[in-house]
Amino acid sequence: SPSPAVVTVTGAAGSIGYAALFRIAAGEMLGADTPIRLRLLEIPSAVSAAEGTAMELDDSAFPLLRDIEVHDDPKRGFDGTDVALLIGSRPRSKGMERGDLLAANGQIFTVQGRAINQVAADGVRVLVVGNPANTNALVAANNAPDVPADRFTALTRLDHNRAIAQLARHSGAAVKDISRVAIWGNHSSTQYPDIFHARVGDRSGAEFAADREWLTGDFIPTVANRGSAIIEARGASSAASAANAAIDHVHDWVLGTPEDDWTSVALPSPGAYGVPEGLVSSFPVRSVGGAWQIVDGLEIDDFSRTRIDASVAELESERDAVRGMGFI
Ligand code: NDP
Repeated sequence: SPSPAVVTVTGAAGSIGYAALFRIAAGEMLGADTPIRLRLLEIPSAVSAAEGTAMELDDSAFPLLRDIEVHDDPKRGFDGTDVALLIGSRPRSKGMERGDLLAANGQIFTVQGRAINQVAADGVRVLVVGNPANTNALVAANNAPDVPADRFTALTRLDHNRAIAQLARHSGAAVKDISRVAIWGNHSSTQYPDIFHARVGDRSGAEFAADREWLTGDFIPTVANRGSAIIEARGASSAASAANAAIDHVHDWVLGTPEDDWTSVALPSPGAYGVPEGLVSSFPVRSVGGAWQIVDGLEIDDFSRTRIDASVAELESERDAVRGMGFI
């Protein structure tokens, strides 16, 4: 049977961490035969809460869960890690400017990138969930020069899953019969959910996209603003669906995407589809042999091009800001 995987979760005491950890320990992320060694990383003030979560994980008696450690030192939290879920980040508080947010998180992800560079396992895979996720991943990757850049990714799988759910609801097709949706760009309201290449049962996504009023007046804004709609309804931000998407992301990275389908991942651009090299931007990808491959050869019409370019421009301005602050 496979050797145990060391999984580090930052922000482990937060809502997404709480929703993710039990499923990871149950084997839903890396498969039912891979033993898990959990490392929970938190800031000092949240260590006690993380220890409480560790007690509950113990009490679940998960057969796959070998051990749990709680740390506030990144060098210990990332020691030997195979999979790092970087969920914790500094939330935007009242009166905080975008620059302040980028600065606070630039600091956190610089420290974490350096620690991963020094102490993680050679094959480490990193998924950034904490916002601004794409740019946090860019900062971490740039501070881990010995780790191949393509091991740093950011989460757009929740946006991808939301797009599938909206398309299912609109078309009447079952979720399982929808494939080849794509998210491009930033995990923000500028993201572009693309259905032009999708399959919807035995119909094509392009057929649905031809209804431009629905596409631009309903589908795209519903997917892009879903996070705010959930906060409005629930009084708290999405947590279980974000955790679910993080688990889907790592699951597919390690175990592969389904035949005839792809998923969406934000990763350092190799210059594909006109996205400047190095920007951590979302693309349609397949997972082959444990590595992401951008789906190539997709036709991008003017409608899609304009939207991809707008989201990429936002990523460039975030990159310029963290570069100006010396984080990359
Ligand atoms: P959550 O667990 O709800 O969210 C964590 C992060 O995920 C936030 O940055 C949030 O962004 C982001 N996120 C990305 N996608 C989504 C989505 N679709 N829906 C909701 N959130 C999303 O935050 P909590 O405040 O409950 O917990 C954060 C924890 O992180 C705290 O326990 C804190 O102590 C810890 N922390 C740890 C650090 C570390 O380990 N070094 C550093 C900083 C914090 P957004 O803010 O935009 O909602």
